[in-house]
Amino acid sequence: MNLIASYTKRLFNKEVSECTNQELYKALLDLVRDRSAELKLHEEKKKLYYFSAEFLIGKLLSNNILNLGLYDEIDEELKAAGSSLSLVEEAEHEPSLGNGGLGRLAACFMDSLSTLKLNADGVGLSYHFGLFRQVFENNQQTTIKDAWRTGDDWLVASERKYDVPFKNFTLRSTLYDIDVLGYEQTTRNRLRLFDLDSVSEGIISSGIDFDKTNIKENLTLFLYPDDSDRNGELLRIYQQYFMVSNGAQLIIDEALEKGATIEELADYAVIQINDTHPALVIPEMIRLLIERGMDQDRAIEMVQKMTAFTNHTILAEALEKWPLHDLEEVVPHLIPIIKELDARVKASYPDKQSVHIIDEQNRVHMAHMSIHYGFSVNGVAQLHTDILKESELKDFYELYPERFNNKTNGITFRRWVMAANPELSRYFDELLGKEWRNTQDLSALLSEKTNEAVKSKLAQIKLDNKVALKKHLELTQNVTINEHSIFDIQIKRIHEYKRQQMNALYIIHKYLDIKAGNIPNTPITLFFGGKAAPAYTIAQDVIHLILSLSELIAKDPEVSPHLQVVMIENYNVSHAEYLIPACDISEQISLASKEASGTGNMKFMLNGALTLGTMDGANVEIAELVDPENIYIFGKESDEIIKLYETAGYVSREYYELPAIKPLVDFIVSDEMKALGNVERLDRLYNELINKDWFMTLIDLENYIKVKEQMYVDYDDQALWLEKVIVNISKAGFFSSDRTISQYNDDIWHLEQ
Ligand SMILES: *Cc1c(COP(=O)(O)O)cnc(C)c1O
Repeated sequence: MNLIASYTKRLFNKEVSECTNQELYKALLDLVRDRSAELKLHEEKKKLYYFSAEFLIGKLLSNNILNLGLYDEIDEELKAAGSSLSLVEEAEHEPSLGNGGLGRLAACFMDSLSTLKLNADGVGLSYHFGLFRQVFENNQQTTIKDAWRTGDDWLVASERKYDVPFKNFTLRSTLYDIDVLGYEQTTRNRLRLFDLDSVSEGIISSGIDFDKTNIKENLTLFLYPDDSDRNGELLRIYQQYFMVSNGAQLIIDEALEKGATIEELADYAVIQINDTHPALVIPEMIRLLIERGMDQDRAIEMVQKMTAFTNHTILAEALEKWPLHDLEEVVPHLIPIIKELDARVKASYPDKQSVHIIDEQNRVHMAHMSIHYGFSVNGVAQLHTDILKESELKDFYELYPERFNNKTNGITFRRWVMAANPELSRYFDELLGKEWRNTQDLSALLSEKTNEAVKSKLAQIKLDNKVALKKHLELTQNVTINEHSIFDIQIKRIHEYKRQQMNALYIIHKYLDIKAGNIPNTPITLFFGGKAAPAYTIAQDVIHLILSLSELIAKDPEVSPHLQVVMIENYNVSHAEYLIPACDISEQISLASKEASGTGNMKFMLNGALTLGTMDGANVEIAELVDPENIYIFGKESDEIIKLYETAGYVSREYYELPAIKPLVDFIVSDEMKALGNVERLDRLYNELINKDWFMTLIDLENYIKVKEQMYVDYDDQALWLEKVIVNISKAGFFSSDRTISQYNDDIWHLEQ
């Protein structure tokens, strides 16, 4: 019972009970660091290098304590001293190293890799301010820098430094490591995050603005800096090359340090590239091998044998294509190699322009390069992989059918239930025994489906989590919610394909319905959270609509007792950890075919929410597992949507004119909205919806409203609702990232176990 006390004594000469939460945080940071240092690094020959522009890791304190097997002991010691782990963790600043699902996936994968005792490091950049911090002002998103590197963070500076050559100068890197602990393991892996000593935080003028041409001082300031102009595009290329050149040099050095010769490199390293941001590792590794004496054919062959690619999207605008002359401007030494790689493709397939690396407009297709010069390409859910094979990457699938494979995404149960929902986890222990913590197998819960005692305990836990969220929001957002309402939650990046605007149109429907005297049986609280890319105007307009509706409703005494809309500011992992355990309805309403997988959907299911969703991404696999009566599916399916795009068959105005839809869309530009909102934003969104609506908001709107209303009615039959909840939890084991990582290893990496 005095694990922490020895640290507080030494650091502050205080008892645990005399310390502030900030002091307790520092003490625990030291304690965890000491314990982590005792864990061994892997010594197996072959290592996976997981390259990713982002790692959305979340706060690490309680997760690391959980993985060290100290969670109960430390929480008890804190509670005895009048604090708790969740209170102390308020003092930790969440690392700002990621953006959304892709970065969170990388973080879950790192946790699973360590837990499965696989030799694997993550490779990325140590951004000073990472992704911007979102602040709401006048019902609009504004952006400021997120100063997460406080000194009391998890970065550990290492001795490693590499020279990275650019056209006009060479930059020397500094490597920072973050330990990645597995669940109750004796070994650890690391995130290897490269940075630059010359970066200057002082060059930021206001908000997140800075001189994009000052590469030495800006290179690692921000994740995904605005690339809507040429200087921004160049900066992205500088960042990507800096990441992969450092990573490639690290791979070669670590292999040589283990006694490898350069000829044996592929026995020592396998590279997974997480989307196309790290794709330049292919020509860079070829360049480095040639520089070390290998001939070109052999170097290309070796890199091809070492590299595997994960595709995360079928949105055309997200598939990176860099103008050749931009690459010439930044990394001229890669140009001969990229041209050689392209020439080989063109020699083999002269008439198949769709698979060329350099297209007729002299743009370099990063995904094409990754598929030709890698040995594996995978999608992230079954539907997504099928769409890649049948349409988006059809021409590649015909060339290399054996390279294509599916790896349905997963989530780590350590963070997303054990740490985020300890009460539910303890109840699983009591009911099923503790083995689920190692296997993620919750299927035995299914036999409790009609057990009234189990149902009422699950309802109690849900209420407790709603109260915890309520406290969290009072503390962080200055808003009060009704814990006895239905919690209906849509949290994810703001994007038209994810269709937050459709949910907003539902709110208008409900508002008008309540105004007309139709009072819902149980009050409803609708939560949103998510950032919009600063250059994505329509997404900003959607945020503005939601915030304006929230204000309108809050100020209306007829409606506010029955309906509340809460948009969480600066949505991140820490907020998600409170929101997800408290949720009843999980909104997964993307336009079918557009969400590659989703992982939020999995976190909600595991925590006892029911899904309201389209047949998209991993929702399809959830639906197959739980059967139709335990999920709420609506909307057009992907085949039909893909056909509509091919034939340009969707005309939003035809839907707008429908009597059930027109009043809802018109309300966006009504007098009451214009009185409290920004007229330009409201007008633009309205016009977008009726004239373009590229992601087909209106096509599914009527069906969405109908199914959502049914869901609210069904909620009131709690006995039946909780049966559905039990079925969902009992089937969630499939979505463990341990399962996903085992499949990657069996099919792609082949690391020793
Ligand atoms: C899981 C997660 C995401 C991904 O959510 P989707 O609904 O799959 O888009 C994004 N951000 C955070 C903070 C997450 O935890």
